Amino acid sequence: MSSSLLIQNGTLVTMNAKEEVLNADLYIEDGKIKKILTKDQKESQRGTDLFEICPPTTVLDAKNCWVLPGFIQTHVHLCQTSFRNLAEDLELLDWLKEKIWPMEGAHTQASLFSSASLGIQELLLGGTTTVLDMGTVHHTDEIFKAAQKLGIRLFCGKAMMDAGEETPKSLKEDTHASLDETQRLIETWHGKENGRLSYALAPRFALSCSEKLLKACHDLSEKNGIMIHTHASENRSECQAIETQKGKKTIHYLEDMGLCTSRSCFAHCIWVDESEMEVLKKTNTRVSHCPSSNLKLGSGIARVPELLKEGICVTLGADGAPCNNTLNMFQEMRLAGLIQKPRVGVQALPAKEILKMATCYGAKALHMENAIGSIETGHQADLILIQKDALHQQPATDPYTTIVYASYASDVKDVLVNGKVCVRNRKLLFNE
Ligand SMILES: [Zn+2]
Repeated sequence: MSSSLLIQNGTLVTMNAKEEVLNADLYIEDGKIKKILTKDQKESQRGTDLFEICPPTTVLDAKNCWVLPGFIQTHVHLCQTSFRNLAEDLELLDWLKEKIWPMEGAHTQASLFSSASLGIQELLLGGTTTVLDMGTVHHTDEIFKAAQKLGIRLFCGKAMMDAGEETPKSLKEDTHASLDETQRLIETWHGKENGRLSYALAPRFALSCSEKLLKACHDLSEKNGIMIHTHASENRSECQAIETQKGKKTIHYLEDMGLCTSRSCFAHCIWVDESEMEVLKKTNTRVSHCPSSNLKLGSGIARVPELLKEGICVTLGADGAPCNNTLNMFQEMRLAGLIQKPRVGVQALPAKEILKMATCYGAKALHMENAIGSIETGHQADLILIQKDALHQQPATDPYTTIVYASYASDVKDVLVNGKVCVRNRKLLFNE
C-alpha cells in the first residue's frame, strides 16, 4: 500500500535554482515530493482537490515553520561519537596518535554500533538527513546497521590504513585484506534500503595509505561509480610530511594517485596553494569544510570564499565529535560565516551561500542533486521543519540569516528522510 503525507501551512525555503521561498503545502507519496501547492493553486484546484482523491495518511502542521531540504554533512566520523570530550587541546597528528587511533582500534562491534547510533540520533534531531562518513577500519557493518535502523541517509566506507610508521597495529591492514573487505562491504551495503545506504571508498589520508591502495581506490570508484572520501591538506605538519615523503604537495600527489575526480570529496583543504586549487577546479573535486574541527585542532582556516569563487563545490561537515564537540550543522554554518569575516571581509560569505553549502551543494557533492538538497517535485522527501517563532529568532525576517545565525539545532521540529518521519515534535520515532 502506498504511504502519503501532507505538510501544510509552512513556508518552503526551497533552495532550488530560482531560490524560491513559497507559502505552500507539500504532498508526499512513496517517499517522494509529488506536488507543491501554493495557496493560489489550492484555491484554483478546489473541488478537484488532490487530497479528496487520495487523502494523506499523515499530516504535519508546519505553521510557524520553515520547511527546508534536510542538511547534508559531507564529513563525519560516526565511530568517534563515543570519544566526545575525551581528546582535548591537541593538534591533529598528536590527537590521532595519542587519543583517537587507540580508541578506534579498541572498538568492538557493540561499541561501534552504539557510537554510530548516538551520532545518528544527534544528527537527525539537529536536521541533518544525509552524511558522508569516514567509517573506521574494523566492523564497518555496524555503522550501516545503525543507519539502517535509525533512518538517516548514509554514505560510508571503511577507513583504509595500510601504511605509515605511526599507524597503530590495531588499525594497520594488509593492502589486499583492506581491498577484499571493501569489496565485501560494497556488495553488502551499496544501494540498500532503496538507495538510502551507499558505499563510499575511504582511504583515511595520504600518510596512512600505500600508493597501491590509493590507485586501487581510483579503480574501484570508476568500476562501481562510487564516491571517494579522504582527508587532504588539513594540518601543516601533515602537509610537510607528505611533501617530504612523496616530493609533492598533497593535492598534486592525490591527483597522481587518480583520486582527484568529480566523485571525490576531500575533507578540509586548508593548506592548498594556487596550483593545488587549480587541480581541484580542473578535476571537479568536491571539498568538505569543517570549521569547528579546523579551529579546535588549531589546523587553520580554509579559504572557502576563494574556493567557491573558482567554482569548486564546497560543502559542510562537523567532522568527528571529539574535535568539535557536537555534530550540529547550525554551529558549522554560523562558524563558516564568522571565521571568514576578519580574514577576507564581512561580505565574503553571505548566509544564503552558507545555507546552499549545507543543502544543495552537499547534494551536488554526492551526485544527488536530482534527488535531494532542494525542494522540487520528484525529489526524495528528505525534509526538515524549523520552528521560526522562538524568542531568540525574532524578528525572523530573512530566512537565510535567521537560520544560519539565529537558530539552534533545538529549533528543528520534524525531520523526514525518504518521506519517513524520523523526528516528530523534537522526538526520535525509530522505536515507534
Ligand atoms: Zn575527519
